[in-house]
Amino acid sequence: MTVRVRFAPSPTGMFHVGGARSALQNWIYAKQQGGVFVLRIEDTDAARNKPEWTEGILSALDWIGISRGSYEGPYFQSENAGEHRAAAARLYESGRAYYCDCTREDVQARTGSQYQGYDGYHRDRNLGPGVGHALRFRTPDEGATVVVDLIRGEPTFENKLIEDFVIARGDGSPVFLLANVVDDMTMGITHVIRAEEHLPNTPKQQLLWDALGVKPPVWAHVPVVVNEKRQKLSKRRDKVALEAYREEGYLAGAMRNYLMLLGWAPSGDREIVPWSVIEDEFRLDEVNPSPAFFDEKKLRAFNGEYIRALSVADFIDACQPWLTGTGTIAPPPWQPEEFDADAFAAVAPLAQTRLAVLSEIVPNVDFLFLASPLIDEAAWAKTMKDGSAELLDAAIVAFEALESWDADSLKSTLEAVGAERGLKLGKTQAPVRVAVTGRTVGLPLFESLEVLGRERALTRMRAARLRLV
Ligand code: GLU
Repeated sequence: MTVRVRFAPSPTGMFHVGGARSALQNWIYAKQQGGVFVLRIEDTDAARNKPEWTEGILSALDWIGISRGSYEGPYFQSENAGEHRAAAARLYESGRAYYCDCTREDVQARTGSQYQGYDGYHRDRNLGPGVGHALRFRTPDEGATVVVDLIRGEPTFENKLIEDFVIARGDGSPVFLLANVVDDMTMGITHVIRAEEHLPNTPKQQLLWDALGVKPPVWAHVPVVVNEKRQKLSKRRDKVALEAYREEGYLAGAMRNYLMLLGWAPSGDREIVPWSVIEDEFRLDEVNPSPAFFDEKKLRAFNGEYIRALSVADFIDACQPWLTGTGTIAPPPWQPEEFDADAFAAVAPLAQTRLAVLSEIVPNVDFLFLASPLIDEAAWAKTMKDGSAELLDAAIVAFEALESWDADSLKSTLEAVGAERGLKLGKTQAPVRVAVTGRTVGLPLFESLEVLGRERALTRMRAARLRLV
C-alpha cells in the first residue's frame, strides 16, 4: 500500500505557524514511507476564502521547503462538490442519513437546554428532501468508535454520546465534515496527520467512512500550539502568520527546524540540527501529545545561530530584501542611490554576529547610507550629558590629527582622550557613537567610523557638538 498523506488548509487567512508544522510533519512522513504528499485547498467556505490566501499558502510552503511541483496538487475542495453531494445522497438512500427541518430553537424547546445536542426528533419521521431540510447522519445507538491515532493511542468515543450531526445544510450543500471525508476518500488518503483541534470531529468522520463502506485512514492528531500563557495561539492575539516571521527576517531553515521541535526532539539533546537529520530521525509516533509551547525567544536564538552559520556572502544575499525593500518588506530609510555595497560588505561580518533576525540589519547600518544619522532622541538625552561637549571637542581635535583613519588608530586615540579625563573607553565612546550613528547600541564603533570615513564622521561629530551649545 502506498502511503498517501495530505495537507488540507483552508484559505481563510494568513498561513498559521501551526499549519506549517503539520505540513512539514506530513511531508516528512510521506518521504520516510516512500509515499505521496497531496496538497488540498479546502475552499468551500466561499464567504471567507480569498485567492490571495491560497497564493500565500503556496508560497509559504515553498519557502519552508515544500516546493511547488514536488507534491500532488494543489487540488481544490470546491472542484469535488459533485462527489460530496453524491456521497450525501448515498447516505440518505441507504438509510444512514435522514432529513430534518428543526431549528435550534425547536430542539432547545424540546430538550429544555441549549447545551444538549440534537434529540433525534426526525429519525423516524420520514421527512424527505425539501428546501430548508438539513440532512443528518444517523449515528449508531450502541457501540463505540475507536480511533487509531499514531500519537494518541486509541481514543474511544461512545456512539450514544455522538448526536445525529448535520452532513448537508438546508440548501443541500454538504458541510466540512463530509466534504473533508469524501475528498480524503477520493484522493486515496491513507494517513490523516492534522491538528489536535480536529480530534472531536474524528469519531464523526470515521463513522462516515464506515457508512460509505471504505476503510478509514490511520489518524495522527498533532499537539495544539500554545503561547507562554498556555493559550492556543490565536491570530487575534499572537503572532501566528508564517509570513510575519519571514518578513521579520527569520531564515526558512531556522523556522522549519524550530517548527519540528514542537512536540518532538532529535536524539542526543540536540536542537539545532541539519534538516537531513530531522528527515531521518523524526518519528510521528514519538510526538508528544501535550500542547506544544511556541517560544518566540527560543526561535530568535535559533535564528541567530542560523544567521551566524551562513557564509558572509550568503549573509549579504540574505539581507538584500531588507536593504532594498522587496515584496511586502518596507523599504529602508535611505534612497537606493545612497546605498553603498562596498561599505555594506565591509561591516557585514560585524553585523552577522549580532543579529537575531535579518530585519535588524537596517537600524544597524542606516548611519552608513543616510546623509545624516537618524537621531534617537531618548538615546541622545541619556548620553549627551555634562562633559559631552568638551569630550566631543577633544575627540574632534584628536581625530582631525590622525594620520591613518583606521579602527585601531581611532580606538587608541579615543582611549587616550578618555584617559586624560579619567574615563573608561565605554563612557568616552558613548557621545561619539550617538553623534555618528544616532544610537547608543550598534556595530563596533571604531570599525563603523573607519567605514564611514573621516569627512563624514567628523562632520557628524561637529554637528552634534553644535547642538550642545
Ligand atoms: N481545512 C481544515 C483546516 O484548515 C483541515 C482539515 C483536516 O486537516 O482534516 O483546519
